[in-house]
Amino acid sequence: MPAAEPFSGMRGLEAATAPNATEVRRPGTHGFDSNSATALAVFVGYFTGAKLGLALTFLPNPVSVLWPPNAILFAALLLVPPSRWWVVAVAALPAHLLAELQSGIPFSMVGCWFISNFAEAAIGAAMVRKLGALHQPFGKPLHVIGFVFAAFTAALLSSFLDSAFVKWNAWGDADYWDLWAARSLSNAATSLVLVPPIVVFATGGLLVFRRAKQTHLVEALLLLVGLLASALVVFHTQLAESVLPVEIYMPLPFLLWAAYRFGPAGTSATVALVAVVAIVGSGHGTGALGMGTPTENARAVQLFLLFISPTLLCFAAAMDERRRAEASLRQSDRRFHVMLEATRDVVYERDLVSGAMWWSRSALSEFGYDRSATGHGYREWCEMIHPDDRESAMAPLHVALAAGSRQWESEFRLRRADGRHALVSERGFIVRDAEGHPLQMIGRLTDITERRDTDELGQELTHASRLTIMGELAASIAHEINQPMSAILSNVDSAEMLLARSGERDAELSDILADIRADGLRASEVMRHIRGLASKRGADIETFDPNEVVRAVLRLVAPVAKRRGIPVSIALDKVPHVWCDRIHVQQVLLNLIFNAMDAMDETPPAQRELFVEVFRSADGMVQIAVRDRGHGLSVSTQGRIFDSFFTTKRDGMGLGLSIARSLVQSHGGRIWATNNADAGATFRFTLRADRRDRNLPPELE
Ligand code: ADP
Repeated sequence: MPAAEPFSGMRGLEAATAPNATEVRRPGTHGFDSNSATALAVFVGYFTGAKLGLALTFLPNPVSVLWPPNAILFAALLLVPPSRWWVVAVAALPAHLLAELQSGIPFSMVGCWFISNFAEAAIGAAMVRKLGALHQPFGKPLHVIGFVFAAFTAALLSSFLDSAFVKWNAWGDADYWDLWAARSLSNAATSLVLVPPIVVFATGGLLVFRRAKQTHLVEALLLLVGLLASALVVFHTQLAESVLPVEIYMPLPFLLWAAYRFGPAGTSATVALVAVVAIVGSGHGTGALGMGTPTENARAVQLFLLFISPTLLCFAAAMDERRRAEASLRQSDRRFHVMLEATRDVVYERDLVSGAMWWSRSALSEFGYDRSATGHGYREWCEMIHPDDRESAMAPLHVALAAGSRQWESEFRLRRADGRHALVSERGFIVRDAEGHPLQMIGRLTDITERRDTDELGQELTHASRLTIMGELAASIAHEINQPMSAILSNVDSAEMLLARSGERDAELSDILADIRADGLRASEVMRHIRGLASKRGADIETFDPNEVVRAVLRLVAPVAKRRGIPVSIALDKVPHVWCDRIHVQQVLLNLIFNAMDAMDETPPAQRELFVEVFRSADGMVQIAVRDRGHGLSVSTQGRIFDSFFTTKRDGMGLGLSIARSLVQSHGGRIWATNNADAGATFRFTLRADRRDRNLPPELE
């Protein structure tokens, strides 16, 4: 049977009474959050309770079966913090005087009774607080026991005072101890029967009716009808003597039903209902508890209530506690699975004693295996590990098991369902018993293939761009040195000519000049060689579709962009083929894209965007634009970004754009940058279209 929720939503009293707790002001909760509301509720409750108490008194017996005002006081002191107990006292006093003086009781007796009533409530409430049962007083069996203990103690202690006051005021001629016993029984029964429903409903009990599903309300109605019918049969009809001892159990199934399905709220309400029916019936001398004198009847009803109320409250609290535990278990189970799905990790558990394996819900679907497939036993699992990695994968676990440690980590290749291998990182935990014997191991598998690929790709890209830069650097140094070297060589020529013209024959000087020429020529040759190496190969001019190059470059940088949280979009127009070096175009584009990504490092993730566009510009050239949403170009840097060694990055070299410019210019193109109107910058370069391409409009042929 599904657990009934409508009545089980009890909140702690502390939360309900805390002045700042927002839920206190929810509709349907009690009105104890301000002094005036408290005072009004206590006044009305106390006065009505007193009238009800008088109605429930079996005359001529002076002691009522239940005395509701005491329960009102007790519940109010539980609901408000001790700092506001005075409000309860001040509000209850006029209600007490009004109700009791009307009955013709002397003023001093009335005053004394107020003191003993308040004393009972204060002792009870203080004890509940002391026992730590204030939070959910009827939501846990231990708390119910604490409350019952407090209610009994308060009733017994305050009855000493009560009886003493009666004797002191010479009110009636009953014996002190008879009075004490009668008062104790009445007060304890009152607290146990009436405080729970008041507290439960004041702390949100009514709210649950609004939330209840229709089926629950129908069930509650059926329960009520059954309970009322059985209670009326037991307490209002005279059954044959033979069934008398047994008939008292007739309402029990309904009371248990209420406790099981409707928690503390259902129990406290149904017990109170049975109490009223029983008191009225036995007051009229009918039913199972109405066969003695009025005093005997009252005592029988009180004893009956004293037994059933705590028992049922404990049962209801146990059910409520179990329901909460189940709900929190369900929630944490759901969280656990959602978390696993989100991390896409696979978790397994292996019982080292029985060898049984458990896999998280997604099982090995992350590696292409069927989710529902069973048979991922330990042996199958080991067989999925690449044969070359098996030993090294298991070694850390064996070491951890032997060394008595609790954790291990390893990395290995795991066979996917399609036969390829994924690189997997495993972290595990070993559960041991008190003697340290391993009982269980729990492992978590993370697929790190993509991460490794991305890292490797990143390293390759960095390496490649470093090589390019170093090559270009060497080339530019060679170029710079070439000029002075030519000057040296021509100076040597001039010196030799002058020497020849002077007619002097200086063999040593001629040898020196010849050496200088030879060294100079060798140096020039070395420089030429370095330049040749740096450019790696001669420009490989060919005709190709620039869109293809853009797509290839973007495929290459996609994992890096993903890792850096940058969405990439493209707009590729149909353009003519271009006539240039494909590798150079790739280099330029890579450089612009990496710069764009660097520029967006500080941009909030939601605003990042890299946009690459290819189109034919008005002059017939093919234009490639790279737009970002980064920090853009400042006025001071804009004119210098294409200069060699100009950089604003901490670890930048400032060569990328200058190299890009020389590459683009060597193909007859142009490169430039502008700031975007909204954010970031756009870098553009043009390439010459292949005149023979059929995409070229006729006017440009
Ligand atoms: P490096 O990247 O080593 O700094 P570059 O020549 O590629 O060398 O870039 C030179 C400078 O141009 C960068 O340091 C940066 O200040 C600026 N720059 C380049 N691209 C961008 C861009 N997309 N947005 C803003 N500034 C840029």
